[in-house]
Amino acid sequence: MAETILSNEPNHDTSETSKPTSKPQTSTESKRSLRRNRPGTKHEDAYQFPYISLEQIDSAFALQEYLQSLIRADKDNLDALVELPPGQDQETWQYEHLSVYTRSNYINFQLEAECTRQSCPEMKADEWQYLCAAHQAPTNCCAIDYIVHTLDGATTLLNSHKYFPSRISIPETSLKHYQSIARRLYRIFAHAWFHHREIFEAFEAYHSQFNDRTEFRTVGNMALLPIKTKLRGPPSLAPAPPAEDDVIDEALDLFRANCLFRNFEIKGSADRVLIYLILFISDCLSCLSKAGKNTSQKEAVKILNSRALDQFALPGDPTFPLNALYTSPGSDAGSII
Ligand SMILES: [Zn+2]
Ligand SMILES: [Zn+2]
Repeated sequence: MAETILSNEPNHDTSETSKPTSKPQTSTESKRSLRRNRPGTKHEDAYQFPYISLEQIDSAFALQEYLQSLIRADKDNLDALVELPPGQDQETWQYEHLSVYTRSNYINFQLEAECTRQSCPEMKADEWQYLCAAHQAPTNCCAIDYIVHTLDGATTLLNSHKYFPSRISIPETSLKHYQSIARRLYRIFAHAWFHHREIFEAFEAYHSQFNDRTEFRTVGNMALLPIKTKLRGPPSLAPAPPAEDDVIDEALDLFRANCLFRNFEIKGSADRVLIYLILFISDCLSCLSKAGKNTSQKEAVKILNSRALDQFALPGDPTFPLNALYTSPGSDAGSII
């Protein structure tokens, strides 16, 4: 069986007969078709398999391996992860997603630190209470037991030869189990959202992809990031490449997920730019909602253009709302920009 997603456990597949080498395998050696991490593989070398398309995977678990390779390539690109691969049927693809989720439920590990029999004696999401269906009769399990029992139950059901005898086609009579599995798994996130918000937010928050880039200068403690524009900016800041997402694209993409958070761990100077843009987008939306439902697109553009030209506070100004997290740009900011 293919290795468990994102797991560093040694693979126990015995179908490959060559003896394990004594030295860790490098990514170049692994190109010889062995897509696995040998015992002793360094963390930075783990999963450095070359990307292969679905057609190139010659395995009974091709679809599963393909989904794993997509997740390793970019686990945050949800559009790419859920897009149905050409020539595949939707039910099989959904099966693989449910299966991956039950095997790699990281929020569960994080909840174990504070979700205990004492803190959460019942499985609740706000005022809703759920009974555990993993027993002969519905039972009132504490939240962490409910989560473990539900994951075990979902894994057993998905691995059942009776309901899912093949990974290539799903019997129509088994499709009814998808909804009940997904509904119960979703409650784990609902419980985390209502009762362990900090863990949920740390787990779900999206950070800027530019945090890891070291080539950008900073002003105060914000990164000076290039944007896609046809206008000439300062010579020190070339426009971003038109084909790539800039920080504004990123803020628009992540707005819906990140605007709900009360806490956000700042992981780099680009995250401060992201937070600033998310606040600005919120401000734009509140301007538009004040303008009313009957505002035309043309009027909306006018309102936002004039809002963008309004006086606004900068980090360090007394009215800037997040001065605890941002440092003043200092007197030489003008010369840098
Ligand atoms: Zn709990
Ligand atoms: Zn239970």
